[in-house]
Amino acid sequence: MSETPLLTVVVPCYNEEEVLEDTMKKLHNLLEELVHEKLVHPKSNLLFVDDGSRDKTWSIIAKESVHHPWIKGLKLARNVGHQKALIAGLEKAAEVADCAISIDADLQDDIKAIKEFLVKFHEGYDIVYGVRRRRTTDTFFKRSTALGFYRCMNKLGIELIYNHADFRLMSKRALTELHRYKEKNLFLRGIIPLIGLNTAEVFYDRKERLAGESKYPLKKMLSFAFDGITSFSVKPIRFITYIGFFLFLLSGFAFLYAFVQKLLGSADSGWTSIIVSLWFLGGLNLIGIGVVGEYIGKIFTEVKARPHYGVDIDLYTGSLTGEKSE
Ligand code: UDP
Ligand code: MG
Repeated sequence: MSETPLLTVVVPCYNEEEVLEDTMKKLHNLLEELVHEKLVHPKSNLLFVDDGSRDKTWSIIAKESVHHPWIKGLKLARNVGHQKALIAGLEKAAEVADCAISIDADLQDDIKAIKEFLVKFHEGYDIVYGVRRRRTTDTFFKRSTALGFYRCMNKLGIELIYNHADFRLMSKRALTELHRYKEKNLFLRGIIPLIGLNTAEVFYDRKERLAGESKYPLKKMLSFAFDGITSFSVKPIRFITYIGFFLFLLSGFAFLYAFVQKLLGSADSGWTSIIVSLWFLGGLNLIGIGVVGEYIGKIFTEVKARPHYGVDIDLYTGSLTGEKSE
């Protein structure tokens, strides 16, 4: 790697005409500052990924890229959503840059933290997470749903960086590792901690959106959370099996209870057989579904074909993962 790393800032954009020019200006000023301080290579650039916008987003990117060599653009064929747009940008960055930073087009994340990201990168960290100090700019609803989401993911054994969105730096090594995860439902916030390598956190305050409105309505947020859970955990399936066993057990007690009632002669006629068979069959059904689910869960993990491990240092070849051998 050269002394000063070539940085690509990846910015996914969906209908962001209202903020884009301002964002370009601010990020360019920052790039100049970073080049001046020799933190990044002069050829560092900004990569705007247009995620099938229906407004003037792409024409702004195309126009600006003609005049400014530091502005690059990637126009996706249709709207594929924030995560996939981000992946498209990161894949491009892995080809051309030494490190990439992802940030939202509305610059709600404080770009001042970027300098700290790079300082950490120079110290040898491969992944630097931007972590929000507090969530005061969020509505009460978003705050509490986010907290619930983190708790739920935690319970399911999925490691997430608390209060970290997709504002982070990744080295070329980390980007190369990321692309070994071939699964289609790539939930970046869950996958990146799995990569390992040297990681650091930088704290910042998140601001209000500059202009325009959030492109993450409740519906998208829910599907994002659901995707996150189902692409990482088969525990919900196991839960069904547990309920099945519980009901099955209950049917045993119900049977004993009903039997005693019958002996005492205090049971209504028909009650015993209905209740016992209801619990029994219900439990049996759920166990059956759970067992089938377990096998589907196995197929699900196999199909994802995640790498078994990533190598940090290999003294056989002396090379680091993702680093080109000259
Ligand atoms: N975005 C995208 N595709 C989409 C939705 C959003 O590329 O389908 C981008 C959007 O332009 C922004 C980022 O994802 O750069 C985050 O969106 P937003 O700021 O609206 O989300 P919020 O900050 O409200 O969670
Ligand atoms: Mg935003």
